Amino acid sequence: MDHLPVFLRLRAAPAVVIGGGRIAQRKIELLLRCGAEVTVIAPALREELAERAAAGEIRHLAEAFHPRHLEGARLAIAATDRRVVNTAVSEAARARALPVNVVDDPALSTFIFPAIIDRAPIIVAVGSAGNAPVLTRWVREQIEALLPGTLGTLARFIGERRKAVQEALRVSARRSFWERIVAGKVASRVLRGDAGGAQRDFERELRTAQLTTSGATGARALGEVYLIGAGPGDPDLLTLRALQLLQQADVVLYDRLVPEAVLERSRREARRVFVGKGATQGPRGPHTDQERIHELMVRYAREGLKVARLKGGDPFVFGRGGEELETLARHGIPYVVVPGITAALGAGAASGIPLTHRKLAQSFTLVTGHPLEDAALDWPALARPHQTVVFYMGVAHLAHIASRLTAAGAPPTLPAALIERATLPGQRTLRGTLATIAALAREADISPPALLVVGEVAAFNVDALAEPGEQTAIAAEACGEAEGDLA
Ligand code: SAH
Repeated sequence: MDHLPVFLRLRAAPAVVIGGGRIAQRKIELLLRCGAEVTVIAPALREELAERAAAGEIRHLAEAFHPRHLEGARLAIAATDRRVVNTAVSEAARARALPVNVVDDPALSTFIFPAIIDRAPIIVAVGSAGNAPVLTRWVREQIEALLPGTLGTLARFIGERRKAVQEALRVSARRSFWERIVAGKVASRVLRGDAGGAQRDFERELRTAQLTTSGATGARALGEVYLIGAGPGDPDLLTLRALQLLQQADVVLYDRLVPEAVLERSRREARRVFVGKGATQGPRGPHTDQERIHELMVRYAREGLKVARLKGGDPFVFGRGGEELETLARHGIPYVVVPGITAALGAGAASGIPLTHRKLAQSFTLVTGHPLEDAALDWPALARPHQTVVFYMGVAHLAHIASRLTAAGAPPTLPAALIERATLPGQRTLRGTLATIAALAREADISPPALLVVGEVAAFNVDALAEPGEQTAIAAEACGEAEGDLA
């Protein structure tokens, strides 16, 4: 370890910044956030800094740097574009044993700025001792994605109750009490913004802890169930909340549409239970699987566990999420529903087919393509022009769907596209018409999961517009600045 990570308290402490440009400004703003009293030494200031100086937020000396500027300072930062000046600052500061940072020059610095995740009062600092700023930034993004935006609220919630807990519980009981609070319902409620519910649960937990430690046996706390939409397959399409709850879960119940890459985002110690179709060979027909899922959710939650029920796409779009919710409500088990990107949206984005388009389609409808459930569909309405109809679970019934649409008045030349394994490795898009799509699918041996998109937009293909070599892609720009500048 080349550097000792510490958190410096700078409230009301004098800090000197040499330089009045963009980088100096970033450092100054950081110092002001910590309550430091900032003096800037620079012949001229950029506009934002000049405004701050005029407003009295910083002190400006329009002078060339002189070692006497460092007198009484607790910290010095050199952010000029002139190496002689930066070197002079560094030498003068080191002569006084004053911590100094020279922007972009670790050799002249006695401290460096980390990349920061600010969920004050929780602060995460990441650094690579100047070796790999871009990697540092990546690490920060990974951590940032896992930390709820409201983490600071949770830290304050705990801080405000520490004294009460100290008075109520013996030292030996406190740690496990707080662990239960942080990993349990109270924390999830605070993070969700349910302050009233959090306070109620907190008081209940505290009473239980008092009873338990005073010798009475506390009832085992009930767990909770997270009904999580896993999105269409690409793990990067998980929501932040899905990731956060996956990191908290003790058990993950998942089905066939959830790929390994998504499962890997769950907590390492979590137990994974496959509950997809075919997971049981019960003699009780097609509902056996769903009943077993209900049974497992309830059983694990009663054991006090946090259960992630991970479903492909969105839990409320052809996902039987409604039935699972009914079961949980009937058994009084707390739950959270986390939406996911449904397959139609994932497939649209991944295949370049917009589901609505000003000239082609003014609405879209998501329907089941399963013939057992299509009796209730309004086929004449689905066959009307200027709309997009997306069929889920329809791959095995393409000819049936096409013939019902044409019988209801849709032209056989109406564009239709099939997107197989949308957003997953090996994704394929097939384009045809109502008349041709079933045969094309057979030829290409398309298999589930796949979606059928019917409507003018299914022929929309920007790849056909671009000249070869003219297609543009936005490349993420590598950034070679110091890690602190990326904060
Ligand atoms: N709740 C899910 C849908 C479950 S029904 C959602 O919101 O997406 C299962 C059907 O979804 C599959 O038969 C298929 O039609 C569609 N599907 C799910 N994932 C898909 C994917 N990655 N590519 C194409 N279709 C997909």
